Amino acid sequence: MNARLTTLTELTRKFGGAEYVKGGGGNSSAKTADTLWVKPSGSTMIAMTPERFVALNRAGIGRMDEVPVTGDVQRREAAAKEILAAAARPESRGRPSVETPLHNLFDAIYVIHTHPALVNGLTCAKNGKTICARLFPEALWIDYIDPGITLYQHVRDKVAVYQRRSGRQPEVLFLKNHGVFVAADTPERITAVYADILTRLKTEYAAAGISLALTEQPLELNTADIETIKKAFPAAERQALISIKSFATADGPISPDHIVYMKSFVHKGTLSETSVADFRRIHGYYPKLLETPAAVYAVGTDLPEACLALELARDGALIKQLAAAFGGITYLDDAARGFIENWEVESYRRKQLILMSDQS
Ligand SMILES: [Zn+2]
Repeated sequence: MNARLTTLTELTRKFGGAEYVKGGGGNSSAKTADTLWVKPSGSTMIAMTPERFVALNRAGIGRMDEVPVTGDVQRREAAAKEILAAAARPESRGRPSVETPLHNLFDAIYVIHTHPALVNGLTCAKNGKTICARLFPEALWIDYIDPGITLYQHVRDKVAVYQRRSGRQPEVLFLKNHGVFVAADTPERITAVYADILTRLKTEYAAAGISLALTEQPLELNTADIETIKKAFPAAERQALISIKSFATADGPISPDHIVYMKSFVHKGTLSETSVADFRRIHGYYPKLLETPAAVYAVGTDLPEACLALELARDGALIKQLAAAFGGITYLDDAARGFIENWEVESYRRKQLILMSDQS
Protein backbone atom coordinates (compact mmCIF):
# COMPACT_ATOMS: atom_id res chain seq x y z
CA MET A 1 0.00 0.00 0.00
CA ASN A 2 1.14 3.45 -0.94
CA ALA A 3 2.23 5.21 2.31
CA ARG A 4 0.84 8.57 1.21
CA LEU A 5 -2.56 7.05 0.52
CA THR A 6 -2.55 5.41 3.96
CA THR A 7 -1.70 8.73 5.62
CA LEU A 8 -4.32 10.52 3.52
CA THR A 9 -6.96 8.02 4.61
CA GLU A 10 -6.07 8.55 8.27
CA LEU A 11 -6.14 12.35 7.87
CA THR A 12 -9.45 12.24 6.00
CA ARG A 13 -11.15 10.20 8.72
CA LYS A 14 -9.61 12.37 11.44
CA PHE A 15 -11.07 15.52 9.89
CA GLY A 16 -14.32 13.81 8.86
CA GLY A 17 -16.11 14.19 12.21
CA ALA A 18 -19.13 16.41 12.83
CA GLU A 19 -16.89 19.18 14.20
CA TYR A 20 -15.45 19.60 10.69
CA VAL A 21 -18.01 18.48 8.07
CA LYS A 22 -21.60 17.36 7.63
CA GLY A 23 -22.99 14.83 5.16
CA GLY A 24 -20.77 14.47 2.10
CA GLY A 25 -19.10 17.84 2.69
CA GLY A 26 -15.38 18.55 2.64
CA ASN A 27 -12.66 16.79 0.70
CA SER A 28 -9.05 15.75 0.92
CA SER A 29 -6.09 14.89 -1.27
CA ALA A 30 -2.49 13.72 -1.39
CA LYS A 31 -0.07 13.95 -4.29
CA THR A 32 3.21 12.84 -5.81
CA ALA A 33 4.88 14.60 -8.73
CA ASP A 34 2.53 12.97 -11.23
CA THR A 35 -0.49 11.60 -9.30
CA LEU A 36 -3.21 13.19 -7.18
CA TRP A 37 -5.58 11.11 -5.00
CA VAL A 38 -8.79 12.89 -4.13
CA LYS A 39 -12.00 12.05 -2.31
CA PRO A 40 -14.86 11.18 -4.70
CA SER A 41 -17.75 13.65 -4.90
CA GLY A 42 -20.57 13.01 -2.41
CA SER A 43 -18.77 10.40 -0.27
CA THR A 44 -18.30 11.00 3.45
CA MET A 45 -14.83 11.77 4.81
CA ILE A 46 -15.33 9.75 7.99
CA ALA A 47 -15.93 6.52 6.06
CA MET A 48 -13.09 6.83 3.54
CA THR A 49 -10.93 3.84 2.66
CA PRO A 50 -7.69 3.95 0.58
CA GLU A 51 -9.23 2.18 -2.42
CA ARG A 52 -12.10 4.67 -2.68
CA PHE A 53 -9.89 7.66 -3.48
CA VAL A 54 -9.87 8.68 -7.14
CA ALA A 55 -6.36 8.71 -8.66
CA LEU A 56 -5.77 11.35 -11.31
CA ASN A 57 -2.96 12.28 -13.62
CA ARG A 58 -1.74 15.70 -12.46
CA ALA A 59 -0.68 16.82 -15.92
CA GLY A 60 -4.22 15.98 -17.05
CA ILE A 61 -5.73 18.14 -14.30
CA GLY A 62 -3.35 20.91 -15.38
CA ARG A 63 -5.27 21.10 -18.66
CA MET A 64 -7.90 22.93 -16.59
CA ASP A 65 -5.91 26.06 -17.39
CA GLU A 66 -7.00 25.74 -21.04
CA VAL A 67 -10.59 26.56 -20.01
CA PRO A 68 -11.30 30.23 -20.82
CA VAL A 69 -11.99 32.59 -17.91
CA THR A 70 -14.91 34.25 -19.67
CA GLY A 71 -17.91 33.04 -21.64
CA ASP A 72 -20.92 30.84 -20.96
CA VAL A 73 -20.46 29.28 -17.53
CA GLN A 74 -22.28 26.06 -18.40
CA ARG A 75 -19.98 25.47 -21.36
CA ARG A 76 -16.92 26.21 -19.20
CA GLU A 77 -18.23 23.85 -16.49
CA ALA A 78 -18.77 21.12 -19.08
CA ALA A 79 -15.22 21.56 -20.41
CA ALA A 80 -13.83 21.36 -16.85
CA LYS A 81 -15.84 18.20 -16.13
CA GLU A 82 -14.53 16.55 -19.29
CA ILE A 83 -10.91 17.42 -18.42
CA LEU A 84 -11.34 16.00 -14.93
CA ALA A 85 -12.93 12.78 -16.18
CA ALA A 86 -10.14 12.34 -18.73
CA ALA A 87 -7.47 12.91 -16.05
CA ALA A 88 -8.87 10.15 -13.79
CA ARG A 89 -6.83 6.97 -14.00
CA PRO A 90 -8.82 4.13 -15.58
CA GLU A 91 -8.70 1.93 -12.46
CA SER A 92 -10.48 4.63 -10.39
CA ARG A 93 -14.21 4.55 -9.76
CA GLY A 94 -16.37 7.50 -8.68
CA ARG A 95 -16.40 11.11 -9.80
CA PRO A 96 -13.48 13.18 -8.48
CA SER A 97 -14.49 16.07 -6.23
CA VAL A 98 -15.29 19.24 -8.14
CA GLU A 99 -12.65 20.95 -6.01
CA THR A 100 -9.90 18.66 -7.42
CA PRO A 101 -8.17 21.44 -9.46
CA LEU A 102 -7.91 23.51 -6.25
CA HIS A 103 -6.17 20.61 -4.53
CA ASN A 104 -3.81 20.22 -7.48
CA LEU A 105 -2.92 23.90 -7.28
CA PHE A 106 -1.07 23.43 -3.99
CA ASP A 107 2.54 22.23 -4.08
CA ALA A 108 2.08 20.79 -0.56
CA ILE A 109 1.51 17.02 -0.39
CA TYR A 110 -1.65 16.94 1.76
CA VAL A 111 -4.70 19.20 1.43
CA ILE A 112 -7.66 18.93 3.81
CA HIS A 113 -10.75 21.02 3.06
CA THR A 114 -13.54 21.22 5.67
CA HIS A 115 -16.46 23.37 6.83
CA PRO A 116 -16.19 23.67 10.64
CA ALA A 117 -18.93 25.79 12.26
CA LEU A 118 -16.21 27.50 14.34
CA VAL A 119 -14.50 28.59 11.09
CA ASN A 120 -17.72 29.47 9.28
CA GLY A 121 -18.68 31.75 12.18
CA LEU A 122 -15.79 33.82 10.78
CA THR A 123 -16.16 33.21 7.01
CA CYS A 124 -19.91 34.00 7.09
CA ALA A 125 -19.54 37.12 9.25
CA LYS A 126 -19.93 40.73 8.10
CA ASN A 127 -16.46 41.61 9.42
CA GLY A 128 -14.97 38.23 8.56
CA LYS A 129 -12.38 39.51 6.11
CA THR A 130 -11.03 42.23 8.45
CA ILE A 131 -10.94 39.93 11.48
CA CYS A 132 -9.29 37.20 9.37
CA ALA A 133 -6.49 39.61 8.40
CA ARG A 134 -5.89 40.34 12.09
CA LEU A 135 -6.14 36.75 13.40
CA PHE A 136 -4.54 34.93 10.47
CA PRO A 137 -2.28 37.41 8.64
CA GLU A 138 -0.55 34.59 6.72
CA ALA A 139 -3.78 33.10 5.37
CA LEU A 140 -5.40 33.90 2.05
CA TRP A 141 -9.02 35.12 2.20
CA ILE A 142 -11.21 34.38 -0.82
CA ASP A 143 -14.41 36.41 -1.25
CA TYR A 144 -17.51 34.40 -2.21
CA ILE A 145 -17.51 33.17 -5.78
CA ASP A 146 -19.53 30.46 -7.53
CA PRO A 147 -17.88 27.07 -6.96
CA GLY A 148 -16.46 24.93 -9.75
CA ILE A 149 -14.33 26.28 -12.56
CA THR A 150 -14.98 29.96 -11.63
CA LEU A 151 -13.73 29.43 -8.07
CA TYR A 152 -10.71 27.47 -9.31
CA GLN A 153 -9.64 30.18 -11.76
CA HIS A 154 -10.11 32.90 -9.15
CA VAL A 155 -8.13 31.05 -6.45
CA ARG A 156 -5.38 30.16 -8.93
CA ASP A 157 -4.86 33.86 -9.67
CA LYS A 158 -5.00 34.86 -5.98
CA VAL A 159 -2.48 32.15 -5.02
CA ALA A 160 -0.15 33.32 -7.82
CA VAL A 161 -0.27 36.90 -6.51
CA TYR A 162 0.36 35.66 -2.95
CA GLN A 163 3.30 33.57 -4.15
CA ARG A 164 4.88 36.45 -6.07
CA ARG A 165 4.56 38.67 -3.00
CA SER A 166 5.78 36.25 -0.32
CA GLY A 167 7.86 33.72 -2.25
CA ARG A 168 5.72 30.78 -1.12
CA GLN A 169 2.19 29.45 -1.34
CA PRO A 170 -0.36 30.04 1.43
CA GLU A 171 -0.84 27.21 3.91
CA VAL A 172 -4.42 28.27 4.68
CA LEU A 173 -7.28 29.50 2.47
CA PHE A 174 -10.48 30.85 4.01
CA LEU A 175 -13.41 30.77 1.61
CA LYS A 176 -16.20 33.21 2.39
CA ASN A 177 -19.52 31.47 3.23
CA HIS A 178 -17.91 28.10 2.63
CA GLY A 179 -14.98 26.83 4.75
CA VAL A 180 -11.23 26.38 4.92
CA PHE A 181 -8.40 24.67 3.00
CA VAL A 182 -5.21 23.64 4.83
CA ALA A 183 -2.20 22.45 2.82
CA ALA A 184 1.01 20.99 4.26
CA ASP A 185 3.65 18.35 3.60
CA THR A 186 3.06 16.33 6.77
CA PRO A 187 -0.02 15.12 8.66
CA GLU A 188 1.47 16.63 11.84
CA ARG A 189 1.55 20.07 10.25
CA ILE A 190 -2.04 19.77 8.96
CA THR A 191 -3.17 18.83 12.46
CA ALA A 192 -1.18 21.66 14.09
CA VAL A 193 -2.52 24.29 11.68
CA TYR A 194 -6.13 23.19 12.22
CA ALA A 195 -5.63 23.17 16.00
CA ASP A 196 -4.16 26.68 15.88
CA ILE A 197 -7.07 28.01 13.77
CA LEU A 198 -9.68 26.55 16.11
CA THR A 199 -7.86 27.72 19.27
CA ARG A 200 -7.58 31.30 18.05
CA LEU A 201 -11.24 31.36 17.04
CA LYS A 202 -12.39 29.87 20.36
CA THR A 203 -10.50 32.65 22.16
CA GLU A 204 -12.35 35.26 20.07
CA TYR A 205 -15.76 33.69 20.74
CA ALA A 206 -14.99 33.49 24.47
CA ALA A 207 -13.90 37.16 24.51
CA ALA A 208 -17.20 38.08 22.82
CA GLY A 209 -19.12 36.03 25.42
CA ILE A 210 -20.53 33.67 22.80
CA SER A 211 -21.21 30.04 23.66
CA LEU A 212 -19.77 27.36 21.36
CA ALA A 213 -22.85 25.24 22.04
CA LEU A 214 -26.07 26.01 20.20
CA THR A 215 -28.65 27.78 22.38
CA GLU A 216 -31.82 25.66 22.47
CA GLN A 217 -35.29 26.08 23.95
CA PRO A 218 -36.96 23.36 26.02
CA LEU A 219 -38.92 20.93 23.82
CA GLU A 220 -42.70 21.24 24.06
CA LEU A 221 -44.65 18.56 22.28
CA ASN A 222 -47.26 20.20 20.11
CA THR A 223 -49.48 17.56 18.57
CA ALA A 224 -51.52 20.21 16.73
CA ASP A 225 -48.39 21.25 14.76
CA ILE A 226 -47.63 17.64 13.89
CA GLU A 227 -51.20 17.13 12.67
CA THR A 228 -50.93 20.32 10.59
CA ILE A 229 -47.70 19.10 8.96
CA LYS A 230 -49.33 15.77 8.14
CA LYS A 231 -52.21 17.55 6.45
CA ALA A 232 -50.13 20.22 4.70
CA PHE A 233 -47.59 17.88 3.05
CA PRO A 234 -48.35 15.19 0.47
CA ALA A 235 -47.59 11.73 1.93
CA ALA A 236 -44.57 11.16 -0.36
CA GLU A 237 -42.94 14.37 0.92
CA ARG A 238 -43.30 13.50 4.61
CA GLN A 239 -42.17 9.90 4.92
CA ALA A 240 -40.02 11.08 7.83
CA LEU A 241 -40.92 13.73 10.41
CA ILE A 242 -38.59 14.59 13.29
CA SER A 243 -39.13 17.16 16.04
CA ILE A 244 -36.36 18.49 18.26
CA LYS A 245 -35.80 21.34 20.72
CA SER A 246 -36.33 24.70 19.09
CA PHE A 247 -33.44 26.99 18.19
CA ALA A 248 -32.97 30.14 16.11
CA THR A 249 -32.52 28.81 12.57
CA ALA A 250 -30.69 30.73 9.84
CA ASP A 251 -32.66 33.35 7.91
CA GLY A 252 -31.21 32.55 4.49
CA PRO A 253 -28.73 30.39 2.58
CA ILE A 254 -25.40 30.12 4.43
CA SER A 255 -23.13 28.03 2.20
CA PRO A 256 -23.33 25.63 -0.76
CA ASP A 257 -23.64 22.62 1.58
CA HIS A 258 -26.46 24.18 3.56
CA ILE A 259 -28.39 24.79 0.33
CA VAL A 260 -27.81 21.21 -0.82
CA TYR A 261 -28.85 19.43 2.37
CA MET A 262 -31.42 21.75 4.01
CA LYS A 263 -32.47 24.09 1.17
CA SER A 264 -32.05 27.86 1.34
CA PHE A 265 -34.99 28.79 3.57
CA VAL A 266 -36.74 27.51 6.69
CA HIS A 267 -40.49 27.85 7.30
CA LYS A 268 -40.83 30.22 10.26
CA GLY A 269 -43.73 31.49 12.36
CA THR A 270 -47.20 30.09 12.92
CA LEU A 271 -47.76 26.79 11.21
CA SER A 272 -50.90 26.19 9.15
CA GLU A 273 -51.85 24.39 5.97
CA THR A 274 -52.02 27.79 4.27
CA SER A 275 -48.59 28.88 5.51
CA VAL A 276 -46.98 25.71 4.12
CA ALA A 277 -48.79 26.16 0.80
CA ASP A 278 -47.64 29.80 0.67
CA PHE A 279 -44.04 28.76 1.40
CA ARG A 280 -44.18 26.26 -1.45
CA ARG A 281 -45.63 28.84 -3.83
CA ILE A 282 -42.90 31.40 -2.98
CA HIS A 283 -39.89 29.05 -2.92
CA GLY A 284 -40.96 26.30 -5.30
CA TYR A 285 -40.48 23.44 -2.80
CA TYR A 286 -41.95 22.10 0.44
CA PRO A 287 -39.92 23.24 3.45
CA LYS A 288 -37.51 20.65 4.83
CA LEU A 289 -37.41 22.53 8.13
CA LEU A 290 -40.08 24.33 10.14
CA GLU A 291 -39.19 26.48 13.15
CA THR A 292 -41.79 27.20 15.85
CA PRO A 293 -41.26 28.38 19.45
CA ALA A 294 -42.10 24.83 20.63
CA ALA A 295 -39.88 22.77 18.30
CA VAL A 296 -37.95 22.59 15.06
CA TYR A 297 -39.40 20.00 12.66
CA ALA A 298 -37.56 18.29 9.84
CA VAL A 299 -39.67 16.75 7.10
CA GLY A 300 -38.24 14.49 4.43
CA THR A 301 -38.87 11.82 1.85
CA ASP A 302 -36.90 9.45 4.12
CA LEU A 303 -35.20 9.42 7.52
CA PRO A 304 -31.58 10.02 6.36
CA GLU A 305 -32.72 13.08 4.39
CA ALA A 306 -34.61 14.54 7.38
CA CYS A 307 -31.71 13.79 9.77
CA LEU A 308 -29.20 15.45 7.48
CA ALA A 309 -31.43 18.51 7.06
CA LEU A 310 -31.62 18.83 10.86
CA GLU A 311 -27.87 18.42 11.21
CA LEU A 312 -27.27 21.23 8.71
CA ALA A 313 -29.97 23.37 10.34
CA ARG A 314 -28.26 23.06 13.74
CA ASP A 315 -24.89 23.77 12.12
CA GLY A 316 -26.32 26.83 10.33
CA ALA A 317 -27.90 28.10 13.55
CA LEU A 318 -24.58 27.71 15.37
CA ILE A 319 -22.80 29.62 12.59
CA LYS A 320 -25.37 32.40 12.97
CA GLN A 321 -24.79 32.41 16.75
CA LEU A 322 -20.98 32.47 16.37
CA ALA A 323 -20.93 35.10 13.59
CA ALA A 324 -22.39 37.56 16.11
CA ALA A 325 -18.81 37.78 17.47
CA PHE A 326 -17.71 39.32 14.15
CA GLY A 327 -20.55 41.72 13.29
CA GLY A 328 -23.30 39.21 12.52
CA ILE A 329 -23.98 36.71 9.74
CA THR A 330 -24.19 37.43 6.01
CA TYR A 331 -26.17 35.15 3.69
CA LEU A 332 -25.59 34.23 0.07
CA ASP A 333 -27.32 36.57 -2.38
CA ASP A 334 -29.94 35.42 -4.91
CA ALA A 335 -27.43 34.97 -7.75
CA ALA A 336 -25.13 32.78 -5.64
CA ARG A 337 -28.10 30.82 -4.30
CA GLY A 338 -29.54 30.30 -7.80
CA PHE A 339 -26.22 28.96 -9.07
CA ILE A 340 -26.07 26.26 -6.38
CA GLU A 341 -29.76 25.36 -6.66
CA ASN A 342 -29.35 24.70 -10.37
CA TRP A 343 -25.90 23.15 -10.28
CA GLU A 344 -25.76 19.59 -11.59
CA VAL A 345 -22.62 18.86 -9.54
CA GLU A 346 -24.51 19.47 -6.31
CA SER A 347 -27.56 17.42 -7.17
CA TYR A 348 -25.17 14.56 -8.08
CA ARG A 349 -23.39 14.98 -4.75
CA ARG A 350 -26.64 14.89 -2.81
CA LYS A 351 -27.86 11.80 -4.68
CA GLN A 352 -24.60 9.98 -3.96
CA LEU A 353 -25.01 10.51 -0.25
CA ILE A 354 -28.64 9.39 -0.20
CA LEU A 355 -27.62 6.28 -2.17
CA MET A 356 -24.91 5.55 0.36
CA SER A 357 -27.25 5.92 3.32
CA ASP A 358 -29.73 3.62 1.57
CA GLN A 359 -27.08 0.93 1.41
CA SER A 360 -25.99 1.18 5.02
ZN1 LIG B 1 -16.39 22.69 0.45
